[in-house]
Amino acid sequence: MSRAATPLVQVSIDHIVSEGRDVKTFVLEPAPGPESKPLDYQAGQFLTLRIPVAADRPVLRSYSISTCPVSDPRLAVTVKRNPGTGSNWLYERAEPGMTLDAIPPTGHFTLDDSDSEILLFAAGVGITPLYSLCKYALAASDRKVYLHYSGRRRDTTPFIAALEALERANRGRMRLALRLTETDGRLHASAVRNIVSAMDAPTSYVCGPADYKAMVIDALVAAGRPPGSIRTESTGPIPGTS
Ligand SMILES: Cc1cc2nc3c(=O)[nH]c(=O)nc-3n(C[C@H](O)[C@H](O)[C@H](O)COP(=O)(O)OP(=O)(O)OC[C@H]3O[C@@H](n4cnc5c(N)ncnc54)[C@H](O)[C@@H]3O)c2cc1C
Repeated sequence: MSRAATPLVQVSIDHIVSEGRDVKTFVLEPAPGPESKPLDYQAGQFLTLRIPVAADRPVLRSYSISTCPVSDPRLAVTVKRNPGTGSNWLYERAEPGMTLDAIPPTGHFTLDDSDSEILLFAAGVGITPLYSLCKYALAASDRKVYLHYSGRRRDTTPFIAALEALERANRGRMRLALRLTETDGRLHASAVRNIVSAMDAPTSYVCGPADYKAMVIDALVAAGRPPGSIRTESTGPIPGTS
C-alpha cells in the first residue's frame, strides 16, 4: 500500500517541550471525536505527520517516537529544526491544541525478543527511537542497556539530563556513555570496536546521520558482529514526501 493511501488518524498537540536549542518534543493525543482511537505503538516506531505548510500543499514528514508505550502516558515525537519545510513549520507554527493528520505509528526498528544486553549507538536527533527503546527495555524487561550517545554540545543535545536520571535509577542495568563532540571529538571506529569487544554479542541498534551510521556499522562488522544483529533507522528525508 502506498504511503498516500494509508488511512490517516487525527492527533492533537497536548503540549510542547523545548529540549534545548533547536529541538522540541510534541506530546500528542488522539484528537477528540467519534472516530478517536488510542495511538497504539511499539517502542522504536515512527509517526508520519501531514504538516500544513501551505493550505494546498501539505507535506508528509516522519518522526521517531521518543516515548515508551509502557512508562510514558502519551505518545511524543521529537523534532530538530533545520532549514527545511516541515520541521521549521512544526518548530515555529505548531501550538498546543492544534490538530494534525497523521499516518499511524509504524516501523520495524523495534526490540528483538531475546534477553541479551542491548547496545544502542545514537548521534544527534538519532537518539529519539533509541530513547524510546532504552526506556522500554528498562521498564518492560530485565535486559541490560548500553547507550553510546554523541552530540555536539550539552545545550544542543536532547534528553541528556533525563538519560542521566534513567542511568542513576537503573544502576547495574544501564550504562550511558556520552560524547560531546565539540570537546571530545567524534566517535571513531577503534572506540566502537573497544566497546563491543567487552560485550557478549548483543543486538546493536544504530541511529544518526548517514556517515555516523556507516562508520558504526562497519566497525561493528569488523569487530565480528553478524550484520543480522545490527539494526538501523533512517532519520533522513524520504524521497517523494514533499
Ligand atoms: C523513519 C524516520 C524517522 C525520523 N525521525 C526523525 C526524528 O525523530 N526527529 C527529526 O527531527 N527528524 C526525523 N526524521 C527526519 C524528518 O522526517 C524530516 O526529514 C526532517 O524533519 C527534515 O524535513 P524538512 O521538511 O524540515 O526538510 P526538507 O524540506 O525535506 O529538506 C530536507 C533537507 O534539505 C535541506 N534544506 C531544505 N531547505 C533548505 C534551505 N532553504 N537551506 C538549506 N538547506 C535546506 C535541509 O538539510 C533539510 O534537512 C525522520 C525521518 C525518517 C524517515
